[in-house]
Amino acid sequence: MSLYLDNNATTPPATEVIEVMRCCLEEDWGNPSSAHRIGIAARRRLELARTSFSNLVGCDESQVVFTSGGTEAANLAILGAFRRVVADQPDRTIVACPGTEHPAVLDSIERCRGVGAEIIRLPVDSNGVLDLEGFERLLDEHGRMIALCSVMWANNETGVIQPIERIGELCREHGVLLHTDAVQWVGREPCDFAALPIDLLTCSAHKLHGPKGAGALVLRKGVVLESRALGGPQERERRGGTENVAAIAGFGRACELAADWLDGERRSAGAALRDRFESKVLALFDGAVINGGDAPRIWNTVNIGFPGLQAQLLVVVFSERGLAVSGGAACASGSLEVSGVLGAMGVDPEIAGGSLRFSLARETTEADIDAALEIITDVLSSFSTDQRDHLSD
Ligand code: PLP
Repeated sequence: MSLYLDNNATTPPATEVIEVMRCCLEEDWGNPSSAHRIGIAARRRLELARTSFSNLVGCDESQVVFTSGGTEAANLAILGAFRRVVADQPDRTIVACPGTEHPAVLDSIERCRGVGAEIIRLPVDSNGVLDLEGFERLLDEHGRMIALCSVMWANNETGVIQPIERIGELCREHGVLLHTDAVQWVGREPCDFAALPIDLLTCSAHKLHGPKGAGALVLRKGVVLESRALGGPQERERRGGTENVAAIAGFGRACELAADWLDGERRSAGAALRDRFESKVLALFDGAVINGGDAPRIWNTVNIGFPGLQAQLLVVVFSERGLAVSGGAACASGSLEVSGVLGAMGVDPEIAGGSLRFSLARETTEADIDAALEIITDVLSSFSTDQRDHLSD
């Protein structure tokens, strides 16, 4: 038996996605920049995917830059935009983000330091939600010196949702660009880019049942970037290199499936499933807490701290019982360091060290949740107080 509750790390590619990718690899394998029929067929695949993606996020096709994933999209958004802003407005040298961002954002921002940026960490509350009053004060005092803020839409570890619309309004009032890492949002919740005060939005195919190795950056009209992948004129000269047509076509198909799903009523069913799951788990373990539990959260995610236990060990024990969960961001697993997200929220290290992320997919069923609960009940009850002490050594 294999139960997968780690969908924020990645999701299984949908059958329809695999099918379209297979067609691209076997039939429409041309170079989309070629002028002959074989190239045109590949170009058609690419542009169909662009339309499907644009429909899902609510933008024009011309605003989309396909990339190799969420990481590259964030690199391009932050470094590409920062370099253009300082070139045009030399006083805007500050780049700001909260400490709860994904490493793709944190490292991109750190790299801006090397090209003259000053970095400011934005304050968050104990749920990881941006402190809007503090943010407003910062903008009032330093707004004219800030080039760019980056605030993720939904957190990958806790699912906590940022008030992105208000953040965007405040940025706009001060002429500050806003990037949002929407990797965990797009495909799971509705997105209407055109209606939002967001300048740059990034996302990734493999979080919405598409393949790894495809992602996108959406740019508000008028935002200009300095390209990072230099070479050909692909993606309207914003990202050089022959496009990964099969992966992007798979991404497009995944967007269509997500859009159909979002049209239905099943999001609230997913939320009800998650809520039932988390209340049962909380009841199983004295002192268990939901990290970010007092803030609005995306429907599929819960992060639970089990004080006194070691998350890394629990991940292994659950895995041996057939349940896949995560002890923080996948890219950080393998290291025993406490999650930077929970650290930035000020979570007690004892709780942070015993925190697990459970993340559902749109096809997670009641039966999956019941089976997972059975395993969790078994494992947690096997940890007597003595064992807990031993585990926390
Ligand atoms: N941003 C967030 C919030 C993520 O969760 C991830 C992936 O885990 C990324 C960015 C990076 O996306 P990719 O794996 O496509 O590079």
